[in-house]
Amino acid sequence: EAAINRIAAGEVVERPASAVKELVENAIDAGARRIDVAYGDGGKTLIRVTDDGCGIAPDDLPLALARHATSKMDGSDLLAIHTFGFRGEALASLGAVGRLTLASRAAGEDAAEMNVTGGAASAVKPAALNGGTVVTLRDLFHATPARLKFMRTDRAEAQAIGDVVKRLAMAEPFVGFTLRDVSGGGAGRTVFRADPESGDLFDAMSARLARIMGREFTDNAIRIDAARDGLGMTGFAGLPTYSRGSALAQYLFVNGRPVRDRMLTGALRAAYRDLLSRDRHPAAALFIECDTALVDVNVHPAKSEVRFRDPGAARGLIVSGLRHALAEEGH
Ligand code: ADP
Ligand code: MG
Repeated sequence: EAAINRIAAGEVVERPASAVKELVENAIDAGARRIDVAYGDGGKTLIRVTDDGCGIAPDDLPLALARHATSKMDGSDLLAIHTFGFRGEALASLGAVGRLTLASRAAGEDAAEMNVTGGAASAVKPAALNGGTVVTLRDLFHATPARLKFMRTDRAEAQAIGDVVKRLAMAEPFVGFTLRDVSGGGAGRTVFRADPESGDLFDAMSARLARIMGREFTDNAIRIDAARDGLGMTGFAGLPTYSRGSALAQYLFVNGRPVRDRMLTGALRAAYRDLLSRDRHPAAALFIECDTALVDVNVHPAKSEVRFRDPGAARGLIVSGLRHALAEEGH
């Protein structure tokens, strides 16, 4: 059973950044207003995510770590998943591929913690914590040397962690994020910091995008607000004059989840086809919203692909929405 769990866990956790993604998503789901992410050695030796969310009661800690245990789905509609959770696999998987400590305190409850190593869980013990949750993951893949070999340099893994945290921070402008490299011990070096933004959603989103993509982006982008076939799209699209040499400054979200999806990036490219030469790429941060029944964002736990019930409609929204907005600006 332990071996099967480790194989299944590898599906969810491919590298440190995928562990960070799962843990930060859990913190967001828990309603956190502040999330701190710390890592050591590119996340290989240490990942720690601290949040001020709702916390977990001591009696519920074993359940949180059990495979397929989730507090987020009632089973009535597999596609109607509003929160980030992927069927209660993340914590169990992390406990199978690393040394995991889950410490938490829910309102009106005592703080408690549990450890899991190689899938084996400890008893629930008292902990010292004022509130929220701290998940510590040490020595990822220590028991699976074959997977250890697939990890890249500390620098590359740290870069991937930064990318994951920034994408999630873009989608959650009212949540404050810090990302610290604690490889040397102590408080470490702050890699990224975004305090909670204020104002209405658009103001907050603009401020957050400016903070992450640079004010140059928001100053050289047009505001997008389009709807079609029951799908909506908001955000910013870079002016053709603000094109980039790579597609790295393209951030796409579906129902608040960062996604990387060929169909969507292809549509973005198509929208700028006549405006940019082949070696130039538009910068964009686009938030697509639709009824959860029209999209499946859980195609694969570790991948960020999406499946629309009507892919043509999603493509059409992006292409026509962006072309229309660019044409209005004289492009
Ligand atoms: P899922 O997110 O799909 O439910 P996870 O394995 O990621 O599965 O988490 C299992 C459960 O543990 C969650 O459903 C939630 O109840 C609890 N949990 C995990 N992380 C946190 C957190 N940071 N704050 C509060 N509860 C949490
Ligand atoms: Mg989860």
